[in-house]
Amino acid sequence: MGDERVEAMEIDAQQRQEVAAAVPDGFNADYLRIYYGKLFPYGDFFKWLAYGNDAKHPGCDQSYIGRRELSFTLENDIYLRFQSFDTAAELETSIKEKCPFKIDIGPVYSVDPAKRHAYAQSGNNVFVPVERELIFDIDISDYDDVRYCCSGADTCLDCWPLMTIVIKILDTSLRGDFGFNHILWVYSGRRGVHCWVCDSRARKLSNEQRSAIADYFRVYKGGENSLKKVSLTGPVLHPFLARSYTDVLKCFFEDKLLHSQQLFASEERCQKILELIPDENVASELHDKWQGNRRSSISKEDVNAARWEQLKTTLQSGKHKTQGLRRCVEEIVFSYTYPRLDMEVSKHMNHLLKAPFCIHPKTGRVCVPIDPNNCEDFDPTAVPTLSQLLGELNAAGMQIDSENGTSDFSERPFFNRC
Ligand SMILES: [Zn+2]
Repeated sequence: MGDERVEAMEIDAQQRQEVAAAVPDGFNADYLRIYYGKLFPYGDFFKWLAYGNDAKHPGCDQSYIGRRELSFTLENDIYLRFQSFDTAAELETSIKEKCPFKIDIGPVYSVDPAKRHAYAQSGNNVFVPVERELIFDIDISDYDDVRYCCSGADTCLDCWPLMTIVIKILDTSLRGDFGFNHILWVYSGRRGVHCWVCDSRARKLSNEQRSAIADYFRVYKGGENSLKKVSLTGPVLHPFLARSYTDVLKCFFEDKLLHSQQLFASEERCQKILELIPDENVASELHDKWQGNRRSSISKEDVNAARWEQLKTTLQSGKHKTQGLRRCVEEIVFSYTYPRLDMEVSKHMNHLLKAPFCIHPKTGRVCVPIDPNNCEDFDPTAVPTLSQLLGELNAAGMQIDSENGTSDFSERPFFNRC
């Protein structure tokens, strides 16, 4: 065979591989079956949830993992609550067989949740949750009043940094203020992030203690319809809030969000910020100034920075250094950037939370862990999808075929054309 012919064959083989490797986007039971068959990390998943109790040493609680509730959501929204497994092999068999569209993790109960009815009949009402990771659930859809690029479940690289800020603020505080070390951050697959605090101390927290921790992070007061969502009270800011502000939120607001969301670029957006200023005279003074510079030569690029500077100067000028206005600049920054937690998820032990490595049905993306130390590098649009993974499997399969020389090339469709 001439060199040219060999070269042509190599190129064509590569093209063929690309064509065969491409799997149409989507999410369905067939795709999922291959994912659960070949890729889901059963071993690591089980090892995590066993917390060392899967070993053989005398300190192990052999019943521990079998008392953990997993919940499966099947195709057509059929829920299978209170599933439990004693071994990784059992878990693997069940997932492969049932092919759940979603897997949720619940608490560890006092008894095997699958046998809860038998215990109830025995007269002792002993079926209670006894352990559960401290969890946090943050959805970007809760930020719709402060982002203009997307809404609802949609997200893009302009608004995703709001989630990066959540990770930075919470991770630092959970480690520094609470002394937790084993913290897992997971992309929820579409619109947010989940946090699992796995330290033994965290897993044993009561509901009351969980509520207290959730409240520690809460700066949002008032109902959904109140204009002023953040109220920073007291003569000085709590050290956690002060640190969050100076180390993270202020820079993020001024260097990124202000520009990426064009926070002062329209009358309506300006009005939203002015509503956060409790003094009407100050608000209207700023409004007049902005009306003025709308006609001035400030370019569109500069309008956000210029108006923010004017707001700060006005609020912090000697004239307005009254108690009520002193915190206003900080309150505006907090309103736009501070983590918005779903409190109820964190407060109760028996709340279910989607397991890592599930596939999100709407996006087809894998719920992958996020490294908190490099969270600004995380790009939700680059997270592998189910179809990409299947494509890689196809390509790898072909690679193995050709390496083993198991296939007769002449029988493959492409080579018949040569
Ligand atoms: Zn966006």
